[in-house]
Amino acid sequence: MTLVVQGGCLCGRVRFKASGPPMRTLACHCTFCQKVTGTSFYAESLYQRSAVEFNEGELKQFDHTSDVSGKKVHVHFCPNCGTTIGLTFERWPDIRAISRGCLDDPDAVEIGSHIWTRSAQTGVALPHGVDCFDTARATLDGRAMEPTRHAAPVMARGEGSS
Ligand SMILES: [Zn+2]
Ligand SMILES: [Zn+2]
Repeated sequence: MTLVVQGGCLCGRVRFKASGPPMRTLACHCTFCQKVTGTSFYAESLYQRSAVEFNEGELKQFDHTSDVSGKKVHVHFCPNCGTTIGLTFERWPDIRAISRGCLDDPDAVEIGSHIWTRSAQTGVALPHGVDCFDTARATLDGRAMEPTRHAAPVMARGEGSS
């Protein structure tokens, strides 16, 4: 059975279809993601680029240089309503991130990990039972980082966190 999810922007000009389960769905608490969404964190599903098809609605692109990797992160948004549809990455040219909030049914995907929790905003709850990473899932040279799994939900910047 092939999972196909559809979604689009706020004004409806940009529509997309993503085929197959995402490679991974995560919540990113890095300061870039806070800024680009204008809110507390960014929930995104990662797909092979070939798995995502768009309608004719043209996307605008903003190129941000990561202060961690020095590589470009491309932000794709609707030129009419400004909705951030997703990201592509200079570091991972075959991958496209799709904003979970743009899915018609955001619950079709499930957040499997939280990353960059060290910059999570005060009052944001980190759930129990999912992998939480202080920074990225891997170092810049590709070494996997060790996740933390909380036994109970933890409030970011609350007691016991740093
Ligand atoms: Zn739009
Ligand atoms: Zn991020």
